[in-house]
Amino acid sequence: MAAVDRQHDRVLSTLNADGSRRWLRPKPSRGRFWRRRRAVAWLLIALFALLPHLKINGRPAVLLDVARREFSLFGGVFYPTDTVLLALFVVGVFLTIFLLTALFGRVWCGWGCPQTVYMEFVFRPIERFFDGEPGRTRRRGAWRTPAKYAAFVLVSMFLAHVFLAYFVGIDELARWVRRSPAEHPASFLIMASVTALMMFDFCFFREQTCIVACPYGRFQSVLLDRRSLIVSYDPKRGEPRGKAKRAATGVPLPVVGANGTGAPRTNGDCVDCFKCVATCPTGIDIRDGLQMECIHCAQCIDACDDVMERLGRPRGLIRYGSQAGIEGERARRLRPRVLIYPLLLAGVVTGIVVALSRIEGADVTVLRGPGLPFNVLPTGEVSNQAVVRVRNRTGAEVGYEVSVPGVEGARVIGVESPLRVAAGALRSEAVSIVLPADAATQRRTEITVRITGTDGFAAETPFRFFGTGRAAGGRP
Ligand code: SF4
Ligand code: SF4
Repeated sequence: MAAVDRQHDRVLSTLNADGSRRWLRPKPSRGRFWRRRRAVAWLLIALFALLPHLKINGRPAVLLDVARREFSLFGGVFYPTDTVLLALFVVGVFLTIFLLTALFGRVWCGWGCPQTVYMEFVFRPIERFFDGEPGRTRRRGAWRTPAKYAAFVLVSMFLAHVFLAYFVGIDELARWVRRSPAEHPASFLIMASVTALMMFDFCFFREQTCIVACPYGRFQSVLLDRRSLIVSYDPKRGEPRGKAKRAATGVPLPVVGANGTGAPRTNGDCVDCFKCVATCPTGIDIRDGLQMECIHCAQCIDACDDVMERLGRPRGLIRYGSQAGIEGERARRLRPRVLIYPLLLAGVVTGIVVALSRIEGADVTVLRGPGLPFNVLPTGEVSNQAVVRVRNRTGAEVGYEVSVPGVEGARVIGVESPLRVAAGALRSEAVSIVLPADAATQRRTEITVRITGTDGFAAETPFRFFGTGRAAGGRP
């Protein structure tokens, strides 16, 4: 306990006075919040591991194929060209974070963030299994440390494989796993690097990720207000802190006002046992007030509730509440920010729905091709080079016809007809757009290129056709 007694000499909760790293071994407090968090954590772990196996309409439910620039999300396929949708999605994610933080504080950090989930419910339990519970004598045995790190490597490798499945797909990953690393050194290197990163994070960097690396914690001072839900200590009830006085029977004396027993008042309810500090995964003392390092994991609530129950005092000296509530102000859930964020979010969701409804069966573009602006063919017709690019967004092969409507005698040559494009594939073809001589007498003529698919798809795209600038058969 001497280590925690000296904590107020520290600049950072994980830094000793001499500047060396203070390694934390938080003692788990297995109370009601810990049990709920564990249930949520295992649900999230199962979801993370199973999602790459899930298929919707024959496609992976989630596949972020960066190499092919193709993103499958719950039955839909998106491409980098879906910029509006992507922008709306990112704005929506940020607004959701802002709203959740305003309402529930750092609930994400304490309950849902993979860093917390895997650190507290996978890696630390493994560590306790091999080393023993914090605060007790370390288990002996030379084999324990290598065995612990072997277990860490195995878990990290598993997580690295699942993580990669989101980017390459479970089928591709299975092929990688079955083949020798020598056959696919690049992918093996990616897997090994991700495993090494996991090992670095969960075995060495640990709580530093939350304290110094994660930007979200830095933003909390602007995202939270006095009425946001936070984990906080009640100084009115707890102070002045001091050891519990005991009656002759050995039972600690309760405090006047805390439970209305009328027993003699000595100290507040906080008995300065430091259990809330010893259990904290970021090593802070919640009694110092709201701190950036606090990830709102509620471990200190469970630790303190246990102490209060043993002392026969009401739970909740440390509790979920708001700064305003702890200071005795009236609870007020509705504030400008919890009204404005949902309104903005509703606008963004509407935008996403509209953008989704406008996604068609194919993305088509017609670009000017390289080379001369125009060519006069032996027939007297005039041609322009163009590149037709078709992305088939459907789940089946489609044939596309390219034509120029509205100009009699116009045709498109140099492309197979129909142009067959496999499901989800992108095809670019160089074509010649040919107009009769009398339709290409202007230097520039705005024409329309039509692309129709065998699946009923139809789109028209403008094209500036360069002509001869002279009357048919005449001089320019
Ligand atoms: S666990 Fe509760 S009683 Fe013990 S030091 Fe923390 S706040 Fe005080
Ligand atoms: S102060 Fe409490 S809620 Fe905050 S990180 Fe520490 S244990 Fe978790």
